[in-house]
Amino acid sequence: MNDAAAKETFSFQTEVGRLLDIVASSLYSNREIFLRELISNASDACDKLRYDALVKPALVQDGTEFGINIAVGKKAKTIIVSDNGVGMNHDELLETLGTIAKSGTGAFLDSLGKDDKKDVSLIGQFGVGFYSAFMVADKVDVVTRKAGEDDGWLWSSDGKGEFTIEKTERDSHGTTITLHMKKDAKEYLEDARLRHIIKTYSDHIDFPITLADETLNSASAIWTRTPKNITPEQHKEFYHHTSHAFDDPWLTIHNRVEGLVSYTNLLYVPTSQPMDLYEPERKSHVKLYVNRVFITEDTKDLLPTFLRFLRGVVDSEDLSLNVSREMLQSDPKLAKIRSSLTKKIVNELKKKANKAPEEYAKFWSSFGAVVKEGLVEEESMRDRLLEICRFSSTHSDQLTSLSEYIERVKDGQKAIYYLAGEDATKIAHSPHLEGFRDKGVEVLLLADSVDEFWIQHIPEFEGKTFKSITRGAADLDEIAGEDNKDEKKDDAESPVLDSLIAAIKIELGEAVKDVRSSKRLTTSPVCLIADDGDMDVNLERMLKRHGQLTGGTLRVLEINPTHDIIKKLATRADKKDAGNDGLLKDAAFLLLDQARIADGEAPANPAEFARRLNSVMESAL
Ligand code: ADP
Ligand code: MG
Repeated sequence: MNDAAAKETFSFQTEVGRLLDIVASSLYSNREIFLRELISNASDACDKLRYDALVKPALVQDGTEFGINIAVGKKAKTIIVSDNGVGMNHDELLETLGTIAKSGTGAFLDSLGKDDKKDVSLIGQFGVGFYSAFMVADKVDVVTRKAGEDDGWLWSSDGKGEFTIEKTERDSHGTTITLHMKKDAKEYLEDARLRHIIKTYSDHIDFPITLADETLNSASAIWTRTPKNITPEQHKEFYHHTSHAFDDPWLTIHNRVEGLVSYTNLLYVPTSQPMDLYEPERKSHVKLYVNRVFITEDTKDLLPTFLRFLRGVVDSEDLSLNVSREMLQSDPKLAKIRSSLTKKIVNELKKKANKAPEEYAKFWSSFGAVVKEGLVEEESMRDRLLEICRFSSTHSDQLTSLSEYIERVKDGQKAIYYLAGEDATKIAHSPHLEGFRDKGVEVLLLADSVDEFWIQHIPEFEGKTFKSITRGAADLDEIAGEDNKDEKKDDAESPVLDSLIAAIKIELGEAVKDVRSSKRLTTSPVCLIADDGDMDVNLERMLKRHGQLTGGTLRVLEINPTHDIIKKLATRADKKDAGNDGLLKDAAFLLLDQARIADGEAPANPAEFARRLNSVMESAL
């Protein structure tokens, strides 16, 4: 084979090409993170080989010390990052660096704003951190050899659409990445600058990082240190490393558990939502170590998915080092760790909720919706989780717990009332709330989509059932209110209302299930509710949007007998020639449409709605 034939040329997959264009032209000021990403990959590669060698000791020579070396070619203007980790073979190179679509590429591109100073610092969170090298280099060479294989490979690219792969020599397993630095990135060739960057981002990396034979990092697993000897700064840095994020940890949970199964956990609750929080995979990101050997980062068996916002590590010496990742899931010891960790974390959250409710409210706004998934998925944790759940309510601007709600229930109130919808501000202004507000009966305002699901699974709390105020009759009469307006309401119930109800029923025909006088309205003339036993309005809306339901349930139109419009319409409906009253007919449809609009929906027929509205306005003017 001659050299020309041995060199293969490939095009970057389209999205990777776009990503490279953006990264290369980025004016982002924090370009130094390229080194963090490359060191992080080198460290991952050492972790992988250390793990693989557990099963196949022949993969590494006896006494191999894993490590990462940084070197600078002053003349050639290069930075060289090498490791003696697992390396890559031809196919892996091709797959990971260029051609196969990485799901993270698109998500990363989407996350970038439109302005010039695109914040690429989160690139690592999307699993495409390697490409950050092109922020500072106009050519990148990767020489790599996979542990257990003989051939070395050279991957090379200027980041402009294509890359090449050819056979090469490498003395032993591992990877060497050479960055040919851009003219405007020479600052990174300075010794002091490099040291500073490594200290800042990579001090806690578990393998020695050397620069000209000097080890720069502490290279000790931070979680094995005594908690009180770890500074907040060190926590922050380790958290940044494990999360590829830049926020501060909101909560740090570091402790050692001794018992049937012993383990150490160093876990962080982030301040802001990680990028992939709502991706369908619901990936876990807590790293599992056995005796300081990294095992896996994405096992769903270490923590329940409702805790997927956590970052950090769990290290146990009691799990068997010789089990494969696949066998882990059936290890009863891991199940023990999972259960005790879950309780510990929920307990720490509870402490925060009680001691620092304002801080907890911030946590809740970022992660509450995820925690509530646990109400459905982790039955054994249900009661504990209900204790740490917080809700918006009509009681005040502050979040409330369910116990606090219970303390405030009125005499005769049998239910915990809630109103569910998609938009918190919209539901706070819903007409359905009027009667409850008037009586001082508190209603929980549920605006997360997960609310519809847990509430189907949890029938009651402390003996009170959950009841949607948009479904079934409002049993407000049975509740002792703050100010007694009941009498006034009864007076208002005029006998002619029946004629109006009959007239509206005839007019609307199949468009509604029924028309009834309302107990829940005070200022709005109408609202729509789901009949007892029918599917609640918001749940139906959600199922439809997710394509899980077609058609729909007919709703009940409730009219407010105390409202002036309704009173006047009732008088008209009671007249002899009411059957020919055009305005009455238009009003019936307009009332239905305004009830729909108040629920955030469109009128059934927008053109007809406009025509009727105009006709009523004309007659008024
Ligand atoms: P991530 O690290 O999140 O997977 P990157 O873009 O940083 O994403 O790296 C892509 C992949 O390239 C890695 O998953 C790994 O398979 C491979 N890779 C990168 N650097 C190295 C290295 N030094 N040694 C071995 N494999 C590497
Ligand atoms: Mg990486």
